[in-house]
Amino acid sequence: MATIFTKIIQGEIPCYKIAENSTHIAFLDINPIAAGHTLVVPKEEIDYLFDLSDSLLADSMFFAKQVALAIDKTLKPIRTGLIVEGLEVPHAHIHLVPIYDERQNVSLRNKVEISKEKMAELAETISAEVKL
Ligand code: AMP
Repeated sequence: MATIFTKIIQGEIPCYKIAENSTHIAFLDINPIAAGHTLVVPKEEIDYLFDLSDSLLADSMFFAKQVALAIDKTLKPIRTGLIVEGLEVPHAHIHLVPIYDERQNVSLRNKVEISKEKMAELAETISAEVKL
């Protein structure tokens, strides 16, 4: 069965899209831990990040970098952190988490409430600055 991320890639489920090319997509995490929390997902449906081919893993990191730079430019966090866990969705992905405060609890279990309107605004703002 297709993963929820494959359904997003195929357009069956909506997302707050940040960027896309032929091999990757980035969209806002629907249950964010910070404003601008973004997922970078290779389109090929592979569960474990370290099962990606060397070149696809390198491309994933490049794609993540371009999105992180756009987050940095638009939302101006101290920096953007990166988390890989993959315990919930069996489709490799990288979490990009803007860190606004040194005391911020950067944990995937520390969800924050963000309205749909704000999520749409964040996606529009960040996506306008992604340079692939
Ligand atoms: P993990 O697999 O533990 O790295 O976490 C999966 C992440 O995917 C969680 O942070 C979820 O909030 C996120 N997520 C699950 N479904 C969606 C969705 N439909 N759109 C955006 N993010 C999602």
